[in-house]
Amino acid sequence: MTSLPMTRAAVAKPAMEFGLQRHYIGGQFRSSASGATFETLNPATNAVLAHAADGGEEDVTAAVQAARTAFDDGPWPRLKASERAAVLRRVAAVIRDHEDEFIRREVADIGMPIAQMKGLAMRAAENFDYYAGVVPELHGRAFQVGDEFLNYTIRKPVGVAGLIMPWNAPLMLSTWRIAPALAAGNTVVLKPAEWSPLTATYLAEVLEEAGVPAGVFNVVHGFGETAGAPLARHPGVDLICFTGETTTGQTIIAAGAPTLKRSSVELGGKSPVIVFEDADPEPCVDAVLAQIFTMNGQRCTAGSRLLVQEPLYERIVGEVAERAKRIRVGDPFDPRTELGPLIRPEHHERVLQYIASAEGARLLAGGARPQGLDTGNYLEATVLADVNEDMAVFQEEIFGPVLVAMPFRDEAEAVRLANATPYGLAAYVWTDDLQRAHRVAHAIDTGMCWVNSQNVRDLRTPFGGVKDSGIGREGGDYAFDFYCETEIVHIALGTHAIPRLGLGD
Ligand code: NAD
Repeated sequence: MTSLPMTRAAVAKPAMEFGLQRHYIGGQFRSSASGATFETLNPATNAVLAHAADGGEEDVTAAVQAARTAFDDGPWPRLKASERAAVLRRVAAVIRDHEDEFIRREVADIGMPIAQMKGLAMRAAENFDYYAGVVPELHGRAFQVGDEFLNYTIRKPVGVAGLIMPWNAPLMLSTWRIAPALAAGNTVVLKPAEWSPLTATYLAEVLEEAGVPAGVFNVVHGFGETAGAPLARHPGVDLICFTGETTTGQTIIAAGAPTLKRSSVELGGKSPVIVFEDADPEPCVDAVLAQIFTMNGQRCTAGSRLLVQEPLYERIVGEVAERAKRIRVGDPFDPRTELGPLIRPEHHERVLQYIASAEGARLLAGGARPQGLDTGNYLEATVLADVNEDMAVFQEEIFGPVLVAMPFRDEAEAVRLANATPYGLAAYVWTDDLQRAHRVAHAIDTGMCWVNSQNVRDLRTPFGGVKDSGIGREGGDYAFDFYCETEIVHIALGTHAIPRLGLGD
């Protein structure tokens, strides 16, 4: 194991010495079988930040075999639930001990403003603590059938879990899957996104230090086509948890079909914020800004479409735009920064193209690279008003700091517009009318809806989307429906009628 750096120091701007990010397979940190590596870039400068092992089929097969052996023959699935819970609690403690290093890596790797990263690093530890608390509750149900039968269910781990993760919040999103997968007794192969490899191998070090046995947790770095695809189709993998783009999710489900893998796919979003004329404007404006411009706008649940009832439209849109102009864009390691750089130059370019495509919209804020930030993938907080529902900026996920706005007349139009995209991940409703709040929340095609609130999530609640935003629910004990098999055992308590065949005349 490589030694973990000292902790609790102030989070310093990285000296950028991260070394090679190796795979972690069967308890060993390894280079790729091919010896190949790839570069990861610093989004604030686009200079090379580190190299990672470039995994291929051979590395994936080795990781799946290690996970398979740990599942079929190792202690992990056979431990008492309380014993697994104790290990998960230790993982949470070790993450907390090394919180500063996790923050340093993630901020350097993805450009997340450091002020926002603190909460996400804490969430990583909470994910393990939370599932350590839930695992003793992993029990079945019993059904009495008169005096004849006792039927009961047991929950069993599924097997080897392949986790294929995106780059926008790698630590938080991967720990949110690793924790329930391990809690249920599965073993794991994690494939982090190629644009954000810096916390995965470090997390492996932490899990090892906390006592997770060799082979139970494995990491293979690499690209989607060469490392993700072999994992998604590998016959030794029983389930795939994927978070990423909708089209990739479709490919991954197809890859798992021949071996009937169960899959949970959390995909893109274009979530509406619906503001009725009776809403309280002040908290609403705060929430609108936070919901689109935190996490650099690279957030699956971003409230990216602002729909405001006509009488309040100019006021809300105007206030949001004025505040957006004052959002501090800059170095993600500066604690005052509110909006950091986008992940990669090509993504920056793609977001700019979306802005340029919105012909006919009113550009109220942003729309360009901020002055004085000539290198790195910086973009101003951008507000486009008076868009229409046919525009790409209304229909498609931009995944950047771009808010589009349009007015609506009445409740029916608000619901129609909210549902007028292929996505259905999150929705936000602002109104003072209790009955309308419930009515609209129920009428929107969405997996999750917040009323008079920004996106605040209790770990017990289900998370997931409808339509092109995904299939399945994770979060809370809903995750166990995915990470566990349910077996029913039927016990005859005495005699019961059995059809008697073959007795002749
Ligand atoms: P992406 O789909 O490009 O990549 C995600 C992961 O899939 C990466 O690890 C990538 O290497 C891998 N991959 C790519 N092609 C593959 C293939 N053919 N087979 C197997 N694996 C493959 O997504 P991204 O750009 O990393 O992430 C951004 C997207 O993720 C956005 O659409 C965002 O909305 C979505 N997202 C959704 C949620 C959610 O919970 N709904 C959360 C975060 C991000």
